[in-house]
Amino acid sequence: MAGIEISPRIKLAAKREGMDATKVRVGAHEIGGDRVVVIAGPCSVESREQLFEVASAVKEAGAHMIRGGAFKPRTLPYSFQGLEEEGLKILAEARDLTGLPVVTEVVAPGDVGLVESYADVLQIGARNMQNYPLLKRVGEAEKPVLLKRALSATIEEWLGAAEYILAGGNANVILCERGIRTFGKLTRFTLDLAAVPLLKEVTHLPVVVDPSHGTGHRQLVAPMARAAIAAGADGLIIEVHNEPEKAKSDGAQSLRPAGFVSLMEGIRPVAEAVGRRI
Ligand code: PEP
Ligand code: MN
Repeated sequence: MAGIEISPRIKLAAKREGMDATKVRVGAHEIGGDRVVVIAGPCSVESREQLFEVASAVKEAGAHMIRGGAFKPRTLPYSFQGLEEEGLKILAEARDLTGLPVVTEVVAPGDVGLVESYADVLQIGARNMQNYPLLKRVGEAEKPVLLKRALSATIEEWLGAAEYILAGGNANVILCERGIRTFGKLTRFTLDLAAVPLLKEVTHLPVVVDPSHGTGHRQLVAPMARAAIAAGADGLIIEVHNEPEKAKSDGAQSLRPAGFVSLMEGIRPVAEAVGRRI
């Protein structure tokens, strides 16, 4: 691609001439195919009641997978750290209830086996994008990996992290743009939507966008979800909470179930406009 060249040392993540885009299969869904995949749920799994309520609501609204953190990488040690294995069990029950596959974060190499035994997709959080022992370990996992972009990572550093997973033998890597640090204070991060068409030029891996962490404000989530699909994203990951004002993490950026319904309505015509379906 004239003008956009990545390091020749990025081998497995790089798109080569004539190569098909990678489609990552999760249950009945394929990330990177014609359909835009929507993953939705709370930031943290807080209780069975909370997760079941949110999971049923997002399923009803048309989400394809559920998200929820059981192991939480928090900025301060005093914040809620997650329900850990109990949270994983609740996620697995929510999958049984709704039929939706589960996306959840793993923060330590020693937990990968445990998380994999409950989850359908292993999320590597932004703060762990360059945790190389963790990347090597999920490279040996059977389940697909959703690799979030680090807070200040360049595209090549992010692809280098993907390369670790691919080199370890796990071909099912999904990239997730979730906003980067810039100078603005009114948004939590700056959602780098140019990363989406850029990645489409340089890598065969599918790309999903997280407008919840990318903006930090629920009012901005649906507009940026529409923009992400217009830019060519293969999926969205959206935080939804039944009572955001009581959320143990990320309430300000969490949609209420009704807000998620209107997000789903708003993205359908945008997907159609760019030749995709939800
Ligand atoms: C999350 O998905 O709740 C999360 C912690 O995201 P990130 O790693 O992008 O901050
Ligand atoms: Mn969150």
